[in-house]
Amino acid sequence: MIFIGTMEWASTRMRGTFICPNCDHSENFRLRASRPFLTLYFIPVLPIGALQEYVQCSRCKNAFETAVLSNRMMPSPSSSAVENAGQKEVPLEEDLLKTIALMMVEDGHVTEDEIRVARRLYENMVESSLSREQLGIACSQVRLHRLNTLSFLATVAERRTHEEKLLLVQAMFGVAGADGEITPGRLQSLVKAQNVLQLDESEFQMAVGATSQWLA
Ligand SMILES: [Zn+2]
Repeated sequence: MIFIGTMEWASTRMRGTFICPNCDHSENFRLRASRPFLTLYFIPVLPIGALQEYVQCSRCKNAFETAVLSNRMMPSPSSSAVENAGQKEVPLEEDLLKTIALMMVEDGHVTEDEIRVARRLYENMVESSLSREQLGIACSQVRLHRLNTLSFLATVAERRTHEEKLLLVQAMFGVAGADGEITPGRLQSLVKAQNVLQLDESEFQMAVGATSQWLA
């Protein structure tokens, strides 16, 4: 049986202090890195893709994209990874796909209905096709990076426009409701998303109400 596993490096070259989006407080962090490997019977055999860096809060243990350090670190030591992270322009499609993937894996299993709805949402929103394989890769990547929906949205909130944030909210609700019922874990993430994305209640609810336009 072949599947994608991960090898992890705890990077010691960088530690520091940042304002953790989850703790909302100054905490220590560690820069960590992992690389996806194709594994055969649990033995890593082939590296696939580059080393992926992420930032881990030493208090809540949540993982964040390195971009989180660009305006939350204090004081700023020099590291090329971190300096570049803040300047990198991330296309909306990329954030949208990650948001959809995070919502899908949030409750630990992925259903056929979710796959169907996720692909339709994405294809209607960005008007380009998304294969099952691309979606599958996105799901395994967010797992490997140990991201969770809220920690990811906290990073995204700073680089997306107002309209783009509303689109991400609709993607989350669309996927969450794919099975006809929203699980408690997902409901909690959805409710917190409004604050994390800094949206006011009425526009948030209007966006949620208009989610079905993407499912046609
Ligand atoms: Zn934290």
